[in-house]
Amino acid sequence: MTREVVIVGGGSAGITVAARLRRAGVRDVVIVEPSRDHWYQPLWTLVGGGVVRREATRRDEAAVIPPGCEWIRARAVAADPDARTLDLDDGRRLDWQWLVLAPGIQLDWDGIPGLPAAIGHDGVYSNYRADLAEAMWEGVRTLRGGVALFTAPDGPIKCGGAPQKIAYLASDWWRREGVLRDIQVHLALPGGSLFGIPSFARALEGAVARYGIHLHLRTELVAIDGATRTARLRTAPDGDSTDLRYDLAHVVPPQSAPAWLAASGLSEPGNPRRWVDVDRHTLRHARHARVFALGDCTNTPNAKTGAAVRKQAPVVVRNLVRAMHGEAPEPDYDGYGSCPIVTSRGTCVLAEFDYDLNLVPSFPFIDMAKERRDMWMVKRWLLPMLYWRLMLKGLA
Ligand code: FAD
Repeated sequence: MTREVVIVGGGSAGITVAARLRRAGVRDVVIVEPSRDHWYQPLWTLVGGGVVRREATRRDEAAVIPPGCEWIRARAVAADPDARTLDLDDGRRLDWQWLVLAPGIQLDWDGIPGLPAAIGHDGVYSNYRADLAEAMWEGVRTLRGGVALFTAPDGPIKCGGAPQKIAYLASDWWRREGVLRDIQVHLALPGGSLFGIPSFARALEGAVARYGIHLHLRTELVAIDGATRTARLRTAPDGDSTDLRYDLAHVVPPQSAPAWLAASGLSEPGNPRRWVDVDRHTLRHARHARVFALGDCTNTPNAKTGAAVRKQAPVVVRNLVRAMHGEAPEPDYDGYGSCPIVTSRGTCVLAEFDYDLNLVPSFPFIDMAKERRDMWMVKRWLLPMLYWRLMLKGLA
């Protein structure tokens, strides 16, 4: 039997699109998703910061599958966009009329030598996995002195602000505990500034100064040795390397699209990170008219965030339904993404911007380029509520 729409991935993007397709009257919607758990990842930062419990960020996948959709609990391993098939890891093959790709991003832990062995031990943590975020909080809570290192990789990652958010949250905790003066905090970032928009970068510089953080711009973690707790940092453009002894390290791995997408001819040709090749405004595949993609897996140059997914999902659904009726897609996605950067356990800088870094604030009458208490409340309470109650139901 040929299925009408098959969605790969039941994360933020897959579920939101499925709910919206059902609301648009599409009858046969199949979600392929191997995990029993559905996570609200934006709160993992606050799990690592000791503000939220890990379990509060999880729901059963079964509970978020929209009514009327079929959930196939399996992993996609290959697609043939010409034959319109999708192969699953349990040996099944699905035939489809339309395919929506939303398998998220791959965390390339092995992209940093020494990291696979060190992560989760030896004082090395990451908010990019729920269990490690929980462990991160234990590391932060118990550190009383020494060196704390926070790093980010080069290239697109989901939530580009997450590597610095945890540096601020942890520093704020240590300040409140009265131990910050005994902890040397280092923040190593690959870019040339804290943020691509100068007014927001200035607000974050304020946080860096307040906590006395040693900021290393254009600097990347290139190797880590858990046994000796040594991190090798390389600074561009001269490529000088230095070794830093750490007591606690928060590491964000390099990221890419899953390899099977490239093997299936769905990635941007020649792209080493294999992002799915879509039109940046319609989100239709660049070469396969019956394939759409959204979320972290695509080559669109927006901030890879759940906030972007919220704006992309209606565009995918509208254009998919238009395509079903033989109509041309509309170029409606402007690259909206948003980054709520928490700067303490009670303040946040909320940046919302499009492809051209034009500000597109949801609260236009508020000066957003400031650390704000109200935006912390938005991040901590309003956005999770919006996610579970409205977005995943196709209502926001
Ligand atoms: P996901 O939500 O990751 O879903 C992908 C799904 O696909 C998963 O369920 C996975 O199991 C499934 N899958 C994978 N491979 C296959 C396969 N082969 N077959 C079938 N299914 C598959 N966003 C914000 O907007 N604001 C924030 O403050 C924010 N902070 C963040 C902080 C952290 C620490 C992290 C990790 C992320 C943060 N994000 C934030 C980013 C946000 O969570 C992602 O951008 C969003 O989840 C992307 O949605 P997605 O559906 O593309 O991917």
